Amino acid sequence: MAQYTPPLRDMQFVLHEVFNVAEEFKALPAHAEVDADTLNAVIEEGGKFAAEVLAPLNRGGDEEGCTLDQGTHEVKTPTGFREAYLRYVEGGWPALSCDPQYGGQGLPITVNQCFFEMLNSANQAWAMYPGLTHGAYECLHAHGTPELQQTYLPKLTSGEWTGTMCLTEAHCGTDLGLLRSKAEPQPDGSYTITGNKIFISSGEHDLAANIVHLVLARLPEAPEGSKGISLFVVPKFLVNADGSLGARNPVYCGALEHKMGIHGNATCQINIDGAKGWLVGEPHKGLAAMFVMMNAARLGVGMQGLGLTEVAYQNALVYAKDRIQMRSLSGPKAPDKPADPIIVHADVRKMLLTARAYAEGGRALSLWTALMIDRELSSPDETIRKDAADQVALLTPIVKAFLTDNAWIATSHCMQVYGGHGYVSEWGMEQFVRDSRINMIYEGTNTIQSLDLLGRKVLGDNGAKLKKFGKLVQEFIEEGGTNEAMQEFVNPLADLGDKVTKLTTEIGMKAFQNADEVGAAAVDYLRVCGHLVFAYFWARMAKVALEKQSGGDPFYKAKLVTARFYFAKLLPETAALIRTARAGAKSVMDEEAFIV
Ligand SMILES: Cc1cc2nc3c(=O)[nH]c(=O)nc-3n(C[C@H](O)[C@H](O)[C@H](O)COP(=O)(O)OP(=O)(O)OC[C@H]3O[C@@H](n4cnc5c(N)ncnc54)[C@H](O)[C@@H]3O)c2cc1C
Repeated sequence: MAQYTPPLRDMQFVLHEVFNVAEEFKALPAHAEVDADTLNAVIEEGGKFAAEVLAPLNRGGDEEGCTLDQGTHEVKTPTGFREAYLRYVEGGWPALSCDPQYGGQGLPITVNQCFFEMLNSANQAWAMYPGLTHGAYECLHAHGTPELQQTYLPKLTSGEWTGTMCLTEAHCGTDLGLLRSKAEPQPDGSYTITGNKIFISSGEHDLAANIVHLVLARLPEAPEGSKGISLFVVPKFLVNADGSLGARNPVYCGALEHKMGIHGNATCQINIDGAKGWLVGEPHKGLAAMFVMMNAARLGVGMQGLGLTEVAYQNALVYAKDRIQMRSLSGPKAPDKPADPIIVHADVRKMLLTARAYAEGGRALSLWTALMIDRELSSPDETIRKDAADQVALLTPIVKAFLTDNAWIATSHCMQVYGGHGYVSEWGMEQFVRDSRINMIYEGTNTIQSLDLLGRKVLGDNGAKLKKFGKLVQEFIEEGGTNEAMQEFVNPLADLGDKVTKLTTEIGMKAFQNADEVGAAAVDYLRVCGHLVFAYFWARMAKVALEKQSGGDPFYKAKLVTARFYFAKLLPETAALIRTARAGAKSVMDEEAFIV
């Protein structure tokens, strides 16, 4: 069975040695008291919960899956999931970065990000129940009326109730403008909601007393398309004035989807049969309100990719050191044994280092993004808040798509390290591959993320957000300009920065003539930008490691090896990606492509 050890040392390296977060928090009044020791203690305890409580349930959850009782419409989660959830609630974990006004602990989002990486490594299917709850909390916190906030936020904060996001319908996934669910206003100010949703994660389960569904639906005479969608909160059980649970609302799970991975998470068809709901935000502005939850969820999905990359790497590394097959090409490395451990073989090393570089680079990117969210939410300085918000907007599609594409590559490589033993179930590697595949699909497919990045976030504001990030890169390059030891990192970073600028201008010019040029380039473009961002963080990590390696701690030497591997073996992928992005739309949009 797969094992998991929380990567505390690497998290602490990124938090304290690269980003110096405790200093950052001093500038944020809400978090000024959060010092390095507090952070480390929380992360260490969170790691114990992930490794000791959740990881042992991962394999059983995959094998057993969820079951639906057609008579009662109740869903049973796999053995142990409910007990683990109760422990999670008892431990106060749901409240970690929630608002103290509703019972939260008020810790930075950055801490929650570390925690969720570990939950996802240990058990992605389980982690989706609290993950979506956190998104629902954020959406209601931003857009709920004071009454709705008082009713729902304390229970979502404590974890006594969980949340869902109900967007997708059979005929509408990416294109939410097509959705048909209806909301009829009632004299008491509530709405009667009717519709059929599919693919709703955590839509029904036995973990918590109530489920708070956030549902997109149309009001009567709403404008067509995405401009006519409103958002409603629809609880499984209605809530009485004193906060106790009332009548069962007719929002039922009609069926569970059978699927490739994340079997422990209930993916539900949800039939909403005249259920009572309440409007969240403005009429017809539901998508804008829901975007709070979608953005949180997109970062959450990136963390799922990161979590799986890390756990797959850890297991493949142990296996590669132990499994003996064939001799090293350059002569025996373990002459006392009948063969060498497979970790001596160049390609096995390459697969392991790829996973490690993706995990450690991903950790830096995701923690930086979380830090920007903390700045955006808590800085007293408006300019800092605005700059941080721009970075979050730019980086969100990259975190979602680049980290999950990388996880698919990394989990597949790590399975390959096991040879045939990776393909059979016994070692748990094929589960990581299966679980990781959905991350590229839900929360807006990775194609949609790439269109969001190139179309909206970059070309949509004439490159302003990208230029801001470019300024950070430029400042770092200038700082390291005279440092000889940094040239191997800084030069390729600067080179890629120039190329991204030219590529962006070129696609922007072509898009004036033909909008399909954006669609034809977007996926390659996102991957190039992902590498630009990774190169920046890898160069920053290399700088710290160079400064500290003389102390003899092998951690820094390993960090430098991984940084060099990243620049030598992974970053050069951008040359081909830039070429294919520049090759334009003609070859894919040729009208004769599918005439036979
Ligand atoms: C296990 C699982 C859990 C899920 N959980 C939830 C949940 O909790 N809540 C929820 O509401 N939904 C959920 N979903 C739904 C998920 O978000 C959708 O499946 C996803 O958004 C894609 O929609 P679709 O499946 O209808 O595909 P479609 O929208 O039909 O897309 C099909 C293909 O066309 C591509 N495509 C579509 N439009 C464009 C375009 N403009 N340009 C380029 N390519 C395009 C897509 O990228 C995709 O490759 C879940 C799905 C699964 C499988």
